[in-house]
Amino acid sequence: MTVYGGIEAGGSKWECAIGTGPNDLRATATLPTTTPAETIDGAVAFFEREGPVDAVGIGSFGPLDGNPASPTWGYITTTPKPGWAQTDFGREIKRRLGVPVAFDTDVNAAALGEHRWGAARDLDTSCYITVGTGIGGGGMVGGKLVHGLLHPEFGHMRIPHDREVDPFPGVCPYHGDCWEGLASGRAIEARWGTPAAELDDEPAWHLEARYLALGIVCVICVLSPERVVIGGGVMNRPGLLELVQREIVALMNGYLSAPVFGDGISGFITAPALGPRAGVLGALALAATA
Ligand code: ZN
Repeated sequence: MTVYGGIEAGGSKWECAIGTGPNDLRATATLPTTTPAETIDGAVAFFEREGPVDAVGIGSFGPLDGNPASPTWGYITTTPKPGWAQTDFGREIKRRLGVPVAFDTDVNAAALGEHRWGAARDLDTSCYITVGTGIGGGGMVGGKLVHGLLHPEFGHMRIPHDREVDPFPGVCPYHGDCWEGLASGRAIEARWGTPAAELDDEPAWHLEARYLALGIVCVICVLSPERVVIGGGVMNRPGLLELVQREIVALMNGYLSAPVFGDGISGFITAPALGPRAGVLGALALAATA
């Protein structure tokens, strides 16, 4: 039987797993993201110790090069994360473990995981959005992950920003007040001086819900997803998902007649069925494509 390895490579930690799916996880490990050499060594040691595995799927923070025909396939490219720009990641794992490797974004991996086993099962078109330290999104169309030119970058869309209501300039080093710049966990902490997990201020969360809904409405209008799965640490705020759902209905303003923009909204904008394991399970699903 084929056994897969998965890595969800985040900016602060890596989740590694061996198995075939959510009901067959044979080993897991969490590694802190330090230097590329040290973190990759840790992941390789885990797979050598707990394996063997027949293929590895990697869902990584980016931007990254996931084009198999490119000479820099498997690289994390222009990331602002110190020490990680132009890191040869996918090829290094492939070389050291000697198995096929599939390399994609962390959010594309999560979108695939939710499609395979979670909230987007059997759908043709869906997307996964994470609202954590940053904001990212991955999409599936025709049951396949969207790559196109590079890979989707939902977090860097521009959304309306009324500076009279919210003079905060945003935290994106490239764009200031793009979606991630205004509504990520990093933005919340910078604007309110309190981490999202400790922020207890109703107007602040209403503003957050408004920004999240503005971005998701753009995604809905462009991608026409049958379901939007939204995870990440910021979404742990009780009641936030419901606020976002209400804002989306209000922003659509009756334009589309689908029931999901009325009573069906809670089944349309949903939490990940795989919870915080969507990414690492998605990496296992990715491995099956390697
Ligand atoms: Zn940006």
